[in-house]
Amino acid sequence: MSLIEGRTGSWEVVIGLEVHAQIVSAAKLFSGAATAFGAEPNTQVSTIDAAFPGMLPVINGHCVEQAVKTGLGLAAEINLHSVFDRKNYFYPDLPAGYQISQYLQPVVGRGKIVLDLPDGGVREVGITRLHLEQDAGKSLHDQHPSLTYLDLNRAGVALMEIVSEPDLRSAEEAGAYLRKLRSILRYLGTCDGNMEEGSLRCDCNVSVRRPGEGYGTRCEIKNVNSVRYVMQAIDYEARRQIEIIEEGGTVRQETRLFDAGRGTTRSMRSKEEAHDYRYFPDPDLLPLTLDPAWVASLKASLPELPDAKKARFVAAYALSPADAGILVAERASADYFEAVARGRDPKQAANWVMGDLFGALNRLGVGIEASPVSAENLGAMLDLIADGTISGRLAKDVFAAMLESGDPPGKIVAERGWKQVTDAGAIEAAVDAVLAAQTDKVAEFRAGKEKLFGFFVGQVMKATEGKANPAAVNELLRKKLNG
Ligand code: ADP
Ligand code: MG
Repeated sequence: MSLIEGRTGSWEVVIGLEVHAQIVSAAKLFSGAATAFGAEPNTQVSTIDAAFPGMLPVINGHCVEQAVKTGLGLAAEINLHSVFDRKNYFYPDLPAGYQISQYLQPVVGRGKIVLDLPDGGVREVGITRLHLEQDAGKSLHDQHPSLTYLDLNRAGVALMEIVSEPDLRSAEEAGAYLRKLRSILRYLGTCDGNMEEGSLRCDCNVSVRRPGEGYGTRCEIKNVNSVRYVMQAIDYEARRQIEIIEEGGTVRQETRLFDAGRGTTRSMRSKEEAHDYRYFPDPDLLPLTLDPAWVASLKASLPELPDAKKARFVAAYALSPADAGILVAERASADYFEAVARGRDPKQAANWVMGDLFGALNRLGVGIEASPVSAENLGAMLDLIADGTISGRLAKDVFAAMLESGDPPGKIVAERGWKQVTDAGAIEAAVDAVLAAQTDKVAEFRAGKEKLFGFFVGQVMKATEGKANPAAVNELLRKKLNG
């Protein structure tokens, strides 16, 4: 258990997350208007989104399908009967004066997410529910010195609100939860998970308690938009609450904002209660009823998800759970790894993909889809190592050249003459030349200075421009020096 030490003893942090995930869909939840990110303001707004009087919402079947798929991917109950409600509140960027959401009867009920912890272990976290709702528009405060402009492009865009149980116990677990949820959504293709563009936004509910006691009063930090910020916000908020309680005060239930610049949270408003919203079923929409056969067919068509893939990688490729977890986080890296590993040494493939390749892609700032080294070329390079054409040491240079040129390794080796020298005669000549030039060192070695061995290896490799087969060099040197 990860506890926080206060002045007066240990505290446990309790966290529940409410994630708003924008559904991948060309059209909005109740209108045919487009959803593309970054369009000119107010160019993707229908009369429904702008709440013109008398306009009627029509449910977008594709969005329902995406929500159900997501529910299935979270091993959740799918409710065959669900209801859209009006959640009433005033906001300038909410032209109808209410948001169409789901309240008492959401489309998806209880599910779970398995967290991959840094030590390779796992922990299950409960999902309370997933419901469909509309996004609001956006107020633009920075376009004019004294006026606020409204952009309704986002108004009516379909969101899934995914609510977790208060099962998380540290900022690290909250981070692992978000990463895992994002990974599942991306595998399913139901949300692109792009936090910078606001496709995934997180409200963090945080409270603290003494270990073993009941839940404390929570604060909700709204709309945090990166995993790192979520973790920072939770850490700050937990310490703030501990300090208040340790000084004899009580935590006030409220909604707070995260200040990314300062790494702090500040009060935004006192917490509203559900009854403040005057929820009632939207009279313009029929309840949503799903055909069980349709749900079953969606379930049958789900892709292999990260947990199943991870288990398969551990079993089929004998990878550690931690390595498998890293490789399956993105579907594209999992596919890349499998293309390299197929018919080759999986451990070696995993090392190259997670080490040299991921390192290089990180430096270049590109995703694996845009990797200059294709899976086919990396695989071909492993074949050249396996058949002795290049040594593991030369492979580092070949890899760097592939990264730069995108060329296949065979071409690089042929053009640059990087073939490993395995010819015993050539290696022996180089060894003899080194030993003849270093008679002092040879004498020292024979007198017991064993660690000089590496020096001789280095000299021979230098003389052969790194191309001598290292195993052959080692063997020959041992024979000649000890002989
Ligand atoms: P509301 O609808 O008012 O936001 P909910 O009961 O639906 O409240 O809970 C919202 C979120 O708050 C959920 O993710 C839940 O797990 C979390 N939560 C509830 N109680 C606590 C608590 N004491 N500490 C931390 N999180 C909590
Ligand atoms: Mg809430």
